[in-house]
Amino acid sequence: MKLLSYDVAALLYLVAAVCFILALKGLSSPRHARRGNLIGASGGALAVVTALLSTDFHGANLPVVLVAIVLGCIIAVPWARMVKMTDLPQLVAIFNGVGGGAAAVVGIMELTEWGGATSLFATSATAFAILIGSLSFAGSMLTFAKLQGIMTGRPIVLPYAAIIMLGTMAISAALAVVTAMTGNVWWGLGLLLAGLASGVLTVLPVGGADVPIVISLLNAFTGLAVAASGFAMPNTLMLVAGTLVGASGSILTIAMANAMGRSVLGILFGALKGGSTAGSTQASDRPVRRAQPDDVAIALAYASRVVVVPGYGLAVAQAQHTCAELVTALRERGVDAVYGIHPVAGRMPGHMNVLLAEANVPYELLIEADDINAAMPSTDVVLVVGANDVVNPAARTDPSAPIYGMPIINADHAGQVFFLKRSMRPGFAGIENELLFSDKTQLLFGDAKESLGAVVAALKEV
Ligand code: NDP
Repeated sequence: MKLLSYDVAALLYLVAAVCFILALKGLSSPRHARRGNLIGASGGALAVVTALLSTDFHGANLPVVLVAIVLGCIIAVPWARMVKMTDLPQLVAIFNGVGGGAAAVVGIMELTEWGGATSLFATSATAFAILIGSLSFAGSMLTFAKLQGIMTGRPIVLPYAAIIMLGTMAISAALAVVTAMTGNVWWGLGLLLAGLASGVLTVLPVGGADVPIVISLLNAFTGLAVAASGFAMPNTLMLVAGTLVGASGSILTIAMANAMGRSVLGILFGALKGGSTAGSTQASDRPVRRAQPDDVAIALAYASRVVVVPGYGLAVAQAQHTCAELVTALRERGVDAVYGIHPVAGRMPGHMNVLLAEANVPYELLIEADDINAAMPSTDVVLVVGANDVVNPAARTDPSAPIYGMPIINADHAGQVFFLKRSMRPGFAGIENELLFSDKTQLLFGDAKESLGAVVAALKEV
Protein backbone atom coordinates (compact mmCIF):
# COMPACT_ATOMS: atom_id res chain seq x y z
CA MET A 1 0.00 0.00 0.00
CA LYS A 2 1.28 3.51 -0.83
CA LEU A 3 1.46 5.87 2.15
CA LEU A 4 2.00 8.97 -0.01
CA SER A 5 -0.16 10.08 -2.93
CA TYR A 6 1.46 10.84 -6.32
CA ASP A 7 1.00 14.60 -5.84
CA VAL A 8 2.56 14.69 -2.37
CA ALA A 9 5.48 12.55 -3.58
CA ALA A 10 5.99 14.88 -6.58
CA LEU A 11 6.07 17.87 -4.22
CA LEU A 12 8.61 16.22 -1.91
CA TYR A 13 10.75 15.28 -4.92
CA LEU A 14 10.68 18.94 -5.95
CA VAL A 15 11.91 19.93 -2.47
CA ALA A 16 14.71 17.32 -2.74
CA ALA A 17 15.68 18.67 -6.19
CA VAL A 18 15.86 22.23 -4.79
CA CYS A 19 18.10 20.86 -1.97
CA PHE A 20 20.48 19.42 -4.59
CA ILE A 21 20.67 22.76 -6.41
CA LEU A 22 21.30 24.63 -3.14
CA ALA A 23 23.94 22.02 -2.23
CA LEU A 24 25.84 22.72 -5.45
CA LYS A 25 25.62 26.45 -4.77
CA GLY A 26 26.93 25.87 -1.23
CA LEU A 27 29.83 23.75 -2.48
CA SER A 28 31.05 26.60 -4.68
CA SER A 29 33.03 28.09 -1.75
CA PRO A 30 34.80 26.55 1.26
CA ARG A 31 33.03 29.18 3.37
CA HIS A 32 29.66 27.39 3.04
CA ALA A 33 30.68 23.97 1.65
CA ARG A 34 29.82 22.14 4.88
CA ARG A 35 26.33 23.64 4.88
CA GLY A 36 25.92 22.80 1.18
CA ASN A 37 26.90 19.21 1.88
CA LEU A 38 24.35 18.92 4.69
CA ILE A 39 21.59 20.38 2.51
CA GLY A 40 22.46 17.89 -0.28
CA ALA A 41 22.49 14.95 2.14
CA SER A 42 19.12 16.04 3.55
CA GLY A 43 17.73 16.19 0.00
CA GLY A 44 19.05 12.66 -0.63
CA ALA A 45 17.48 11.36 2.60
CA LEU A 46 14.16 13.01 1.75
CA ALA A 47 14.25 11.45 -1.73
CA VAL A 48 14.87 7.94 -0.35
CA VAL A 49 12.10 8.22 2.25
CA THR A 50 9.68 9.63 -0.35
CA ALA A 51 10.48 6.80 -2.76
CA LEU A 52 9.87 4.24 0.00
CA LEU A 53 6.56 5.77 1.08
CA SER A 54 5.20 6.31 -2.40
CA THR A 55 5.96 2.83 -3.79
CA ASP A 56 3.57 -0.08 -3.80
CA PHE A 57 5.83 -2.92 -2.61
CA HIS A 58 4.67 -6.39 -3.52
CA GLY A 59 5.41 -9.30 -1.19
CA ALA A 60 9.03 -9.58 -0.07
CA ASN A 61 10.40 -6.51 -1.92
CA LEU A 62 10.28 -4.06 0.98
CA PRO A 63 12.44 -6.15 3.39
CA VAL A 64 14.95 -6.69 0.56
CA VAL A 65 15.12 -2.94 -0.08
CA LEU A 66 15.51 -2.17 3.63
CA VAL A 67 18.27 -4.76 4.05
CA ALA A 68 20.07 -3.27 1.01
CA ILE A 69 19.84 0.25 2.48
CA VAL A 70 21.17 -0.91 5.89
CA LEU A 71 24.01 -2.88 4.27
CA GLY A 72 24.92 0.12 2.09
CA CYS A 73 25.03 2.40 5.15
CA ILE A 74 27.09 -0.10 7.17
CA ILE A 75 29.70 -0.23 4.40
CA ALA A 76 29.72 3.37 3.23
CA VAL A 77 29.39 5.47 6.40
CA PRO A 78 32.45 4.16 8.36
CA TRP A 79 34.47 4.05 5.13
CA ALA A 80 33.68 7.69 4.30
CA ARG A 81 34.38 8.79 7.88
CA MET A 82 37.72 6.99 8.18
CA VAL A 83 39.16 7.66 4.74
CA LYS A 84 42.36 9.72 4.66
CA MET A 85 41.96 12.97 2.76
CA THR A 86 44.68 11.90 0.31
CA ASP A 87 42.61 8.77 -0.50
CA LEU A 88 39.39 10.66 -1.26
CA PRO A 89 39.69 10.42 -5.07
CA GLN A 90 39.51 6.61 -4.97
CA LEU A 91 36.53 6.74 -2.59
CA VAL A 92 34.76 9.09 -5.01
CA ALA A 93 35.65 6.65 -7.83
CA ILE A 94 34.09 3.64 -6.15
CA PHE A 95 30.95 5.45 -4.96
CA ASN A 96 30.51 6.90 -8.43
CA GLY A 97 30.96 3.47 -10.02
CA VAL A 98 28.26 2.00 -7.80
CA GLY A 99 25.89 4.77 -8.97
CA GLY A 100 26.59 3.98 -12.63
CA GLY A 101 26.17 0.25 -12.00
CA ALA A 102 22.84 0.90 -10.26
CA ALA A 103 21.57 2.90 -13.26
CA ALA A 104 22.53 0.02 -15.58
CA VAL A 105 20.83 -2.59 -13.36
CA VAL A 106 17.67 -0.46 -13.13
CA GLY A 107 17.69 -0.36 -16.96
CA ILE A 108 17.87 -4.17 -17.17
CA MET A 109 15.04 -4.49 -14.61
CA GLU A 110 12.90 -2.08 -16.63
CA LEU A 111 13.43 -4.11 -19.81
CA THR A 112 12.44 -7.29 -17.93
CA GLU A 113 9.30 -5.66 -16.55
CA TRP A 114 8.18 -4.16 -19.87
CA GLY A 115 8.81 -7.35 -21.86
CA GLY A 116 9.04 -5.30 -25.06
CA ALA A 117 5.63 -3.64 -24.54
CA THR A 118 6.61 0.03 -24.20
CA SER A 119 7.49 3.10 -26.29
CA LEU A 120 10.63 3.48 -28.39
CA PHE A 121 11.42 6.57 -26.34
CA ALA A 122 11.48 4.56 -23.09
CA THR A 123 13.61 1.74 -24.54
CA SER A 124 16.04 4.24 -26.11
CA ALA A 125 16.56 6.05 -22.80
CA THR A 126 16.97 2.67 -21.07
CA ALA A 127 19.54 1.46 -23.63
CA PHE A 128 21.49 4.68 -23.02
CA ALA A 129 21.32 4.17 -19.23
CA ILE A 130 22.56 0.57 -19.53
CA LEU A 131 25.47 1.45 -21.83
CA ILE A 132 26.68 4.57 -20.02
CA GLY A 133 25.95 3.18 -16.55
CA SER A 134 27.93 -0.03 -17.12
CA LEU A 135 30.77 1.93 -18.81
CA SER A 136 30.93 4.20 -15.78
CA PHE A 137 30.85 1.24 -13.37
CA ALA A 138 33.73 -0.65 -15.03
CA GLY A 139 35.77 2.51 -15.66
CA SER A 140 35.34 3.70 -12.06
CA MET A 141 36.36 0.33 -10.60
CA LEU A 142 39.50 0.41 -12.73
CA THR A 143 40.37 3.98 -11.67
CA PHE A 144 39.85 2.86 -8.05
CA ALA A 145 42.31 -0.02 -8.60
CA LYS A 146 44.83 2.36 -10.23
CA LEU A 147 44.68 4.98 -7.47
CA GLN A 148 44.64 2.42 -4.66
CA GLY A 149 47.80 0.84 -6.04
CA ILE A 150 46.02 -2.51 -6.63
CA MET A 151 47.30 -2.26 -10.22
CA THR A 152 49.84 -0.02 -11.93
CA GLY A 153 48.85 3.63 -12.22
CA ARG A 154 50.68 3.88 -15.54
CA PRO A 155 48.87 3.88 -18.89
CA ILE A 156 48.36 0.34 -20.21
CA VAL A 157 48.19 0.25 -23.99
CA LEU A 158 47.10 -3.11 -25.42
CA PRO A 159 48.36 -4.23 -28.84
CA TYR A 160 46.00 -2.82 -31.50
CA ALA A 161 44.34 -0.78 -28.71
CA ALA A 162 42.87 1.82 -31.07
CA ILE A 163 41.29 -0.85 -33.30
CA ILE A 164 39.91 -2.80 -30.31
CA MET A 165 38.52 0.44 -28.90
CA LEU A 166 36.85 1.45 -32.18
CA GLY A 167 35.46 -2.12 -32.62
CA THR A 168 34.00 -2.13 -29.09
CA MET A 169 32.46 1.30 -29.62
CA ALA A 170 30.86 0.12 -32.88
CA ILE A 171 29.49 -3.08 -31.25
CA SER A 172 28.18 -1.06 -28.28
CA ALA A 173 26.41 1.40 -30.59
CA ALA A 174 24.87 -1.47 -32.62
CA LEU A 175 23.68 -3.27 -29.47
CA ALA A 176 22.22 -0.03 -28.12
CA VAL A 177 20.20 0.45 -31.33
CA VAL A 178 18.92 -3.16 -31.30
CA THR A 179 18.02 -2.94 -27.58
CA ALA A 180 16.15 0.31 -28.19
CA MET A 181 14.30 -1.14 -31.24
CA THR A 182 13.31 -4.47 -29.62
CA GLY A 183 13.21 -3.71 -25.88
CA ASN A 184 14.53 -7.28 -25.47
CA VAL A 185 16.33 -7.93 -22.19
CA TRP A 186 18.86 -10.34 -23.76
CA TRP A 187 20.08 -7.64 -26.11
CA GLY A 188 20.14 -5.40 -23.05
CA LEU A 189 22.43 -7.85 -21.26
CA GLY A 190 24.73 -7.95 -24.31
CA LEU A 191 24.76 -4.14 -24.22
CA LEU A 192 25.69 -4.25 -20.53
CA LEU A 193 28.71 -6.46 -21.31
CA ALA A 194 29.75 -4.16 -24.17
CA GLY A 195 29.44 -1.18 -21.78
CA LEU A 196 31.67 -2.92 -19.21
CA ALA A 197 34.27 -3.63 -21.90
CA SER A 198 34.10 -0.01 -23.10
CA GLY A 199 34.70 1.22 -19.53
CA VAL A 200 37.78 -0.97 -19.12
CA LEU A 201 39.18 0.00 -22.53
CA THR A 202 38.58 3.71 -21.90
CA VAL A 203 40.44 3.79 -18.58
CA LEU A 204 43.29 1.31 -19.25
CA PRO A 205 45.36 3.73 -21.39
CA VAL A 206 44.91 6.61 -18.93
CA GLY A 207 47.58 7.06 -16.29
CA GLY A 208 49.24 9.39 -13.84
CA ALA A 209 47.74 12.80 -13.18
CA ASP A 210 44.95 12.15 -15.68
CA VAL A 211 43.22 9.44 -13.60
CA PRO A 212 41.36 11.88 -11.28
CA ILE A 213 40.17 13.83 -14.33
CA VAL A 214 38.73 10.61 -15.73
CA ILE A 215 36.94 10.00 -12.41
CA SER A 216 35.27 13.37 -12.82
CA LEU A 217 34.31 12.49 -16.41
CA LEU A 218 32.88 9.11 -15.34
CA ASN A 219 30.98 10.94 -12.61
CA ALA A 220 29.36 13.06 -15.34
CA PHE A 221 28.55 9.84 -17.25
CA THR A 222 26.87 8.35 -14.18
CA GLY A 223 24.75 11.48 -13.91
CA LEU A 224 23.67 11.14 -17.54
CA ALA A 225 22.84 7.43 -17.05
CA VAL A 226 20.69 8.25 -14.02
CA ALA A 227 18.99 11.07 -15.93
CA ALA A 228 18.20 8.62 -18.77
CA SER A 229 16.72 6.17 -16.21
CA GLY A 230 14.63 9.08 -14.93
CA PHE A 231 13.27 9.59 -18.48
CA ALA A 232 12.45 5.90 -18.89
CA MET A 233 10.82 5.19 -15.50
CA PRO A 234 9.60 8.11 -15.47
CA ASN A 235 10.94 9.77 -12.30
CA THR A 236 11.41 13.55 -12.23
CA LEU A 237 13.87 13.56 -9.33
CA MET A 238 16.23 11.09 -11.03
CA LEU A 239 16.04 13.24 -14.14
CA VAL A 240 16.87 16.45 -12.26
CA ALA A 241 19.56 14.92 -10.00
CA GLY A 242 21.17 13.04 -12.91
CA THR A 243 21.24 16.18 -15.06
CA LEU A 244 22.81 18.18 -12.21
CA VAL A 245 25.54 15.56 -11.75
CA GLY A 246 26.08 15.30 -15.52
CA ALA A 247 26.39 19.08 -15.95
CA SER A 248 28.51 19.76 -12.86
CA GLY A 249 30.74 16.74 -13.55
CA SER A 250 31.34 17.96 -17.11
CA ILE A 251 32.21 21.47 -15.91
CA LEU A 252 34.60 20.07 -13.27
CA THR A 253 36.24 17.79 -15.85
CA ILE A 254 36.90 20.71 -18.20
CA ALA A 255 38.11 22.94 -15.34
CA MET A 256 40.55 20.27 -14.10
CA ALA A 257 41.81 19.56 -17.61
CA ASN A 258 42.35 23.30 -18.22
CA ALA A 259 44.16 23.69 -14.88
CA MET A 260 46.56 20.94 -15.99
CA GLY A 261 46.87 22.44 -19.48
CA ARG A 262 45.41 19.32 -21.14
CA SER A 263 42.44 18.53 -23.38
CA VAL A 264 39.83 15.94 -22.37
CA LEU A 265 40.21 14.11 -25.72
CA GLY A 266 44.00 14.13 -25.28
CA ILE A 267 43.57 12.57 -21.82
CA LEU A 268 41.27 9.80 -23.11
CA PHE A 269 43.03 8.97 -26.34
CA GLY A 270 46.52 10.49 -25.94
CA ALA A 271 48.18 7.23 -24.84
CA LEU A 272 46.74 5.40 -27.87
CA LYS A 273 48.90 7.72 -29.98
CA GLY A 274 51.95 6.90 -27.86
CA GLY A 275 51.76 9.76 -25.30
CA SER A 276 52.25 9.01 -21.60
CA THR A 277 51.50 10.96 -18.48
CA ALA A 278 53.39 8.97 -15.87
CA GLY A 279 57.00 9.90 -15.15
CA SER A 280 59.74 8.37 -13.02
CA THR A 281 60.09 8.24 -9.24
CA GLN A 282 63.91 8.31 -9.40
CA ALA A 283 65.61 10.77 -7.01
CA SER A 284 68.05 13.25 -8.57
CA ASP A 285 71.71 13.19 -7.40
CA ARG A 286 72.58 16.71 -8.66
CA PRO A 287 73.96 19.03 -5.94
CA VAL A 288 71.60 21.52 -4.26
CA ARG A 289 71.98 24.27 -1.64
CA ARG A 290 70.79 23.12 1.77
CA ALA A 291 69.26 25.37 4.41
CA GLN A 292 68.75 25.01 8.16
CA PRO A 293 65.58 26.08 10.00
CA ASP A 294 67.43 29.20 11.26
CA ASP A 295 68.25 30.30 7.69
CA VAL A 296 64.62 29.98 6.68
CA ALA A 297 63.37 31.79 9.79
CA ILE A 298 65.78 34.73 9.29
CA ALA A 299 64.88 35.11 5.60
CA LEU A 300 61.16 35.03 6.43
CA ALA A 301 61.43 37.40 9.39
CA TYR A 302 63.22 40.10 7.40
CA ALA A 303 61.03 39.81 4.29
CA SER A 304 58.31 42.32 3.40
CA ARG A 305 56.23 39.87 1.39
CA VAL A 306 56.19 36.07 1.73
CA VAL A 307 54.17 33.59 -0.31
CA VAL A 308 53.68 30.07 1.04
CA VAL A 309 52.96 27.56 -1.74
CA PRO A 310 51.44 24.40 -0.24
CA GLY A 311 51.24 21.09 -2.13
CA TYR A 312 50.61 17.40 -1.73
CA GLY A 313 53.37 17.03 0.90
CA LEU A 314 51.48 19.38 3.25
CA ALA A 315 48.59 16.88 3.18
CA VAL A 316 50.91 13.87 3.65
CA ALA A 317 52.64 15.51 6.63
CA GLN A 318 49.32 16.86 8.00
CA ALA A 319 51.25 20.07 8.54
CA GLN A 320 48.38 22.50 7.92
CA HIS A 321 48.16 23.65 11.57
CA THR A 322 51.92 24.25 11.88
CA CYS A 323 51.91 26.02 8.52
CA ALA A 324 49.07 28.28 9.67
CA GLU A 325 50.97 28.95 12.91
CA LEU A 326 54.01 30.09 10.92
CA VAL A 327 52.02 32.42 8.66
CA THR A 328 50.19 33.91 11.67
CA ALA A 329 53.53 34.50 13.45
CA LEU A 330 54.91 36.23 10.35
CA ARG A 331 51.82 38.42 9.95
CA GLU A 332 52.04 39.41 13.62
CA ARG A 333 55.58 40.61 12.89
CA GLY A 334 54.24 42.79 10.06
CA VAL A 335 55.29 40.52 7.19
CA ASP A 336 52.74 40.40 4.36
CA ALA A 337 52.50 36.58 4.32
CA VAL A 338 49.85 34.87 2.19
CA TYR A 339 49.26 31.47 0.56
CA GLY A 340 49.55 30.92 -3.20
CA ILE A 341 46.97 28.26 -4.12
CA HIS A 342 47.36 26.27 -7.33
CA PRO A 343 44.09 24.68 -8.58
CA VAL A 344 45.62 21.19 -8.85
CA ALA A 345 48.00 21.29 -5.88
CA GLY A 346 47.51 18.06 -3.92
CA ARG A 347 45.53 15.19 -5.35
CA MET A 348 42.00 16.49 -5.73
CA PRO A 349 40.34 19.77 -6.71
CA GLY A 350 40.29 22.17 -3.79
CA HIS A 351 42.62 19.93 -1.73
CA MET A 352 44.65 22.83 -0.31
CA ASN A 353 41.57 24.95 0.43
CA VAL A 354 40.01 22.10 2.43
CA LEU A 355 43.25 21.39 4.25
CA LEU A 356 43.89 25.01 5.21
CA ALA A 357 40.24 25.53 6.15
CA GLU A 358 40.78 22.74 8.72
CA ALA A 359 43.46 24.95 10.28
CA ASN A 360 41.05 27.94 10.26
CA VAL A 361 43.15 29.93 7.79
CA PRO A 362 41.14 33.02 6.72
CA TYR A 363 39.96 32.68 3.08
CA GLU A 364 41.30 36.18 2.29
CA LEU A 365 44.84 34.82 2.71
CA LEU A 366 44.34 32.14 0.04
CA ILE A 367 45.34 33.82 -3.22
CA GLU A 368 44.72 32.05 -6.53
CA ALA A 369 47.50 31.37 -9.01
CA ASP A 370 46.83 34.24 -11.46
CA ASP A 371 46.69 36.86 -8.72
CA ILE A 372 49.70 35.56 -6.84
CA ASN A 373 51.75 35.41 -10.06
CA ALA A 374 51.11 39.10 -10.66
CA ALA A 375 52.67 39.81 -7.23
CA MET A 376 55.56 37.34 -7.60
CA PRO A 377 58.26 39.75 -8.92
CA SER A 378 57.76 41.92 -5.79
CA THR A 379 57.78 38.90 -3.44
CA ASP A 380 60.89 38.47 -1.31
CA VAL A 381 60.56 34.84 -0.25
CA VAL A 382 58.53 31.88 -1.52
CA LEU A 383 58.23 28.98 0.90
CA VAL A 384 57.28 25.84 -1.04
CA VAL A 385 55.79 23.38 1.46
CA GLY A 386 55.51 19.88 0.00
CA ALA A 387 54.78 21.15 -3.51
CA ASN A 388 56.79 20.40 -6.62
CA ASP A 389 54.97 20.14 -9.98
CA VAL A 390 52.87 23.24 -9.37
CA VAL A 391 56.03 25.42 -9.22
CA ASN A 392 58.03 23.55 -11.88
CA PRO A 393 59.11 26.03 -14.62
CA ALA A 394 59.33 23.07 -17.08
CA ALA A 395 55.59 23.64 -17.54
CA ARG A 396 56.54 26.91 -19.29
CA THR A 397 59.84 26.00 -20.89
CA ASP A 398 60.07 22.28 -21.77
CA PRO A 399 57.65 21.12 -24.50
CA SER A 400 58.62 17.49 -23.84
CA ALA A 401 57.55 17.64 -20.16
CA PRO A 402 54.24 15.91 -19.31
CA ILE A 403 53.15 19.06 -17.46
CA TYR A 404 54.05 21.38 -20.37
CA GLY A 405 51.28 23.96 -20.80
CA MET A 406 50.00 23.61 -17.22
CA PRO A 407 49.74 27.08 -15.65
CA ILE A 408 52.08 27.13 -12.61
CA ILE A 409 52.80 29.41 -9.67
CA ASN A 410 55.85 31.36 -10.82
CA ALA A 411 57.92 30.90 -7.65
CA ASP A 412 61.05 31.34 -9.78
CA HIS A 413 60.08 35.01 -10.33
CA ALA A 414 60.43 35.77 -6.58
CA GLY A 415 63.64 36.93 -4.89
CA GLN A 416 64.39 33.77 -2.91
CA VAL A 417 62.86 30.28 -2.72
CA PHE A 418 62.91 27.69 0.08
CA PHE A 419 61.66 24.16 -0.59
CA LEU A 420 60.49 22.00 2.33
CA LYS A 421 60.60 18.35 1.21
CA ARG A 422 62.03 15.06 2.41
CA SER A 423 64.30 14.00 -0.44
CA MET A 424 65.27 14.69 -4.04
CA ARG A 425 62.44 12.53 -5.39
CA PRO A 426 60.29 14.24 -8.01
CA GLY A 427 56.60 15.10 -7.64
CA PHE A 428 53.56 13.39 -9.16
CA ALA A 429 54.57 14.01 -12.79
CA GLY A 430 57.90 12.26 -12.15
CA ILE A 431 60.11 14.94 -13.69
CA GLU A 432 63.03 16.95 -12.41
CA ASN A 433 62.37 20.50 -11.21
CA GLU A 434 65.11 22.94 -12.35
CA LEU A 435 64.01 25.41 -9.68
CA LEU A 436 65.53 23.09 -7.04
CA PHE A 437 68.96 23.74 -8.57
CA SER A 438 68.58 27.51 -9.09
CA ASP A 439 70.93 30.01 -7.39
CA LYS A 440 68.00 31.57 -5.57
CA THR A 441 66.81 28.24 -4.10
CA GLN A 442 67.66 26.44 -0.85
CA LEU A 443 66.24 23.16 0.46
CA LEU A 444 65.26 22.32 4.03
CA PHE A 445 65.03 18.53 4.03
CA GLY A 446 62.62 16.67 6.30
CA ASP A 447 58.98 15.99 6.95
CA ALA A 448 57.06 19.23 6.36
CA LYS A 449 55.46 19.23 9.82
CA GLU A 450 58.78 18.80 11.61
CA SER A 451 60.55 21.34 9.38
CA LEU A 452 57.79 23.93 9.84
CA GLY A 453 57.82 23.33 13.60
CA ALA A 454 61.58 23.94 13.66
CA VAL A 455 61.17 27.15 11.61
CA VAL A 456 58.41 28.42 13.94
CA ALA A 457 60.70 27.75 16.94
CA ALA A 458 63.65 29.47 15.22
CA LEU A 459 61.48 32.46 14.32
CA LYS A 460 60.85 33.11 18.02
CA GLU A 461 64.59 33.62 18.48
CA VAL A 462 64.98 36.10 15.60
P1 NDP B 1 53.77 17.00 -6.22
O1 NDP B 1 53.27 15.61 -6.21
O2 NDP B 1 54.29 17.55 -7.47
O3 NDP B 1 54.92 17.15 -5.13
C1 NDP B 1 54.70 16.80 -3.81
C2 NDP B 1 55.99 17.03 -3.06
O4 NDP B 1 55.74 16.84 -1.70
C3 NDP B 1 57.07 16.06 -3.48
O5 NDP B 1 58.14 16.81 -3.97
C4 NDP B 1 57.45 15.31 -2.20
O6 NDP B 1 58.86 15.24 -2.14
C5 NDP B 1 56.90 16.23 -1.11
N1 NDP B 1 56.43 15.53 0.08
C6 NDP B 1 55.70 14.41 0.15
N2 NDP B 1 55.47 14.07 1.42
C7 NDP B 1 56.09 15.02 2.18
C8 NDP B 1 56.22 15.24 3.57
N3 NDP B 1 55.68 14.41 4.47
N4 NDP B 1 56.90 16.31 3.98
C9 NDP B 1 57.48 17.15 3.11
N5 NDP B 1 57.38 17.01 1.77
C10 NDP B 1 56.69 15.95 1.32
O7 NDP B 1 52.60 17.88 -5.60
P2 NDP B 1 51.99 19.26 -6.08
O8 NDP B 1 50.93 19.57 -5.08
O9 NDP B 1 53.05 20.27 -6.34
O10 NDP B 1 51.35 18.94 -7.48
C11 NDP B 1 50.21 18.13 -7.61
C12 NDP B 1 50.42 17.13 -8.70
O11 NDP B 1 49.39 16.17 -8.63
C13 NDP B 1 50.38 17.76 -10.08
O12 NDP B 1 51.22 17.07 -10.96
C14 NDP B 1 48.92 17.51 -10.47
O13 NDP B 1 48.76 17.49 -11.87
C15 NDP B 1 48.70 16.16 -9.85
N6 NDP B 1 47.31 15.87 -9.60
C16 NDP B 1 46.51 16.79 -8.99
C17 NDP B 1 45.18 16.52 -8.82
C18 NDP B 1 44.26 17.51 -8.20
O14 NDP B 1 43.08 17.49 -8.51
N7 NDP B 1 44.77 18.35 -7.33
C19 NDP B 1 44.61 15.25 -9.25
C20 NDP B 1 45.60 14.33 -9.76
C21 NDP B 1 46.87 14.66 -9.94
P3 NDP B 1 59.60 14.18 -1.18
O15 NDP B 1 59.04 12.84 -1.53
O16 NDP B 1 61.03 14.36 -1.50
O17 NDP B 1 59.26 14.59 0.23
